[in-house]
Amino acid sequence: MCGIGAWQIVDREIDPAKLATILLRRLSIRGRDAAGLAWHQGDGDKPETYINKADVSGAQFGRFIDKQTGETGICHTRWATQGDPAYNVNNHPIDVEGIVGVHNGHVSNDDQLIAMCKGYKRKGKVDSEAAFAMIAHGPRELGFFGRLQQIKGSAALMWINAYGPNRFLHAVRLNGSPLVFGHTAKGSVILASTKYIVTGK
Ligand code: GLU
Repeated sequence: MCGIGAWQIVDREIDPAKLATILLRRLSIRGRDAAGLAWHQGDGDKPETYINKADVSGAQFGRFIDKQTGETGICHTRWATQGDPAYNVNNHPIDVEGIVGVHNGHVSNDDQLIAMCKGYKRKGKVDSEAAFAMIAHGPRELGFFGRLQQIKGSAALMWINAYGPNRFLHAVRLNGSPLVFGHTAKGSVILASTKYIVTGK
């Protein structure tokens, strides 16, 4: 029962660092084994992607949040199902060669999925890595949705692409895992596992 969150802010109407701090604190109730965030920085054609994560709770993570956190980003609090949080490679956001993502749920066929990703060498033991490996490296002939359909278990996934267009936030919900979408009148969007985490109510 991890917690996931994401934001895309327009016209600087919300401070992303403050928002990430609030989301991570609220998300803590869904898992305290680790916390982390990733964001795009820079408005040009070549944004940089940053990842910060550690095996502390989302509430404790507040002091690690960079004031320069960008206006498009994702965050996670972990309730580990598989893969020791003491090894940061198992914590989220997970970077599979530029697909940088967070997952809520449990993928039950992770070994099979990794085997389908020819040439991909697994870096950690967390099941979630297999879902992002499928997105980045799964058999092209299946198509994007065909690759997602191979994932068994439960999953809400959100990711940013370090090599893709700037300010793109990707989100999919497969079986079972909740995901709520909110937006402001100006068009900033906030996504998270539950309504309370998005709205504070
Ligand atoms: N299975 C993933 C992990 O162990 C996600 C955990 C969860 O959603 O509870 O990190």
